[in-house]
Amino acid sequence: MSWTAPIDPTNKKSLKVSQLCEICHCRKAIIKRPKNLEKICKECFFYVFETEIHNTIVNNKLFHKGERVAVGASGGKDSTVLCYIMKLLNERYNYGIDIQLLSIDEGIVGYRDDSLATVKRNQKQYGLPLEIVSYKELYNWTMDEIVAVAGIRNSCTYCGVFRRQALDRGAQRLGINHIVTGHNADDMAETVLMNILRGDVARLEKSTSIITSSSGSPIKRSKPFKYTYQKEIVLYAHYKKLDYFSTECTYAPEAFRGTARELMKNLEAIRPSCIIDIIHSGENLVLKEKKKRIV
Ligand code: SF4
Ligand code: ZN
Repeated sequence: MSWTAPIDPTNKKSLKVSQLCEICHCRKAIIKRPKNLEKICKECFFYVFETEIHNTIVNNKLFHKGERVAVGASGGKDSTVLCYIMKLLNERYNYGIDIQLLSIDEGIVGYRDDSLATVKRNQKQYGLPLEIVSYKELYNWTMDEIVAVAGIRNSCTYCGVFRRQALDRGAQRLGINHIVTGHNADDMAETVLMNILRGDVARLEKSTSIITSSSGSPIKRSKPFKYTYQKEIVLYAHYKKLDYFSTECTYAPEAFRGTARELMKNLEAIRPSCIIDIIHSGENLVLKEKKKRIV
């Protein structure tokens, strides 16, 4: 597919070569891509951002025609951009998939209630059906109640397990067996680093898979943003003026992940490609066969 955004030749004459977009060479560059530091215009950014995600979807055969797909929607920037992009690419490239939004209400006052209000607005903006599954209805406990009894330590560990299960239950309720999530390249590189630092070989092997499933569950999960930088997702949401929720959860994110994130940010400042490089390293890692235990 060729790039066909309108170009104004008078604009080109008034700009110095160093100000021009490095892709179309006509419009003013206003974005430096965090991924490769290329200076490009807004229109070319939209095009390359969307096309790279489409290529990830096609190269990994994520969907098939007629498939029903649930998009994990939290109201945050990643999932809001995911909902928008899934609808856009499905229409542009005729994937032929049926998209629904699926949200989990963990029961965290001042955080999830506000972010769910954003999802409800997104539902109307994108015209997609929405299903909300709550911890309270599934487990009879909200996260606020769990933290009040068990304390804040390890809250993300419980919450992560419950959310995985809740997403599966929500998808089952909708009769859907494919959930797409907004996990991006930064999340994946962080996970690879965390597993290396912990020596968690079993998780390391699976940490770069684009399609996963819980053992025994017929529901598959996929990550169309596997190669998409978080900073580009934020830029895209900003320039497209998408309606998303940006407050952090009341309960501190997992401490060890926070440390891995900090480490990666420092590495990225020196070498912007390190996020993709870490993912490629994880993909090509060949682990030696585990020795059989002699009892
Ligand atoms: Fe749950 Fe932790 Fe995320 Fe809060 S930060 S929603 S407690 S996993
Ligand atoms: Zn351009």
